[in-house]
Amino acid sequence: MFIGHFGLAFASKRIAPRLSLGTAFLAAQFIDLLWPTLLLLGMETVRIAPGATVVTPLVFDHYPISHSLVAVLGWAVLLGGAVGAMRRSTRLGAVVASLVLSHWLLDAIVHVPDLPLAPGFGTLVGFGLWNSLPATLAIEVLVFAVGVWLYSVSTRAVDRTGRFALIGLVAFLALIYLGNLFGPPPAQVRDIAWAGHAQWLLVLWGYWVDAHRQSTPATLMPAAPAALHH
Ligand SMILES: [Zn+2]
Repeated sequence: MFIGHFGLAFASKRIAPRLSLGTAFLAAQFIDLLWPTLLLLGMETVRIAPGATVVTPLVFDHYPISHSLVAVLGWAVLLGGAVGAMRRSTRLGAVVASLVLSHWLLDAIVHVPDLPLAPGFGTLVGFGLWNSLPATLAIEVLVFAVGVWLYSVSTRAVDRTGRFALIGLVAFLALIYLGNLFGPPPAQVRDIAWAGHAQWLLVLWGYWVDAHRQSTPATLMPAAPAALHH
């Protein structure tokens, strides 16, 4: 799952207009931002095995710190708590925590059973949508498209950057996704780890887009009418 996570982050603007798209990206992709670092440190492992599933050539052998349900709940509380405290908003904290957790739930739909419930716990979860390319594409493109649509109607560009940085971001995400799906498998795990770290640029891109757009009054009205006055 790749653009589906970003889709949910985009969608969160609808219920949390004061949450920057960058923070939403950080939350929704948090465990996939952690994972490449843990790979490089040798604390988690992955194998490249073309044909492992129809969609991905990766076999996720061991990733309890980034991708076990219990650990993800911990990351959700930690990140949600930090953002909630910084922004003095239980609501924003809850949205961030939900986004962190949503990553595991979306992963569980597509991964073959490789997601642990807890570190050191034998049971592995995954409904295996990755065994079907059309099904994977259908669900992921749908979540992404709906999310982008919700974001674009909940905000409007305040300048040209606000418009074109968003279009560029959406196009770039789609391009990476197509490259992942139809491009050659990565040559070595080290390449996956470095490409994974490059995702931090997408978080920055999210902040950049969001700084050049503002929430539409219709979005702010039900959630935070006070925000209209400053
Ligand atoms: Zn993941």
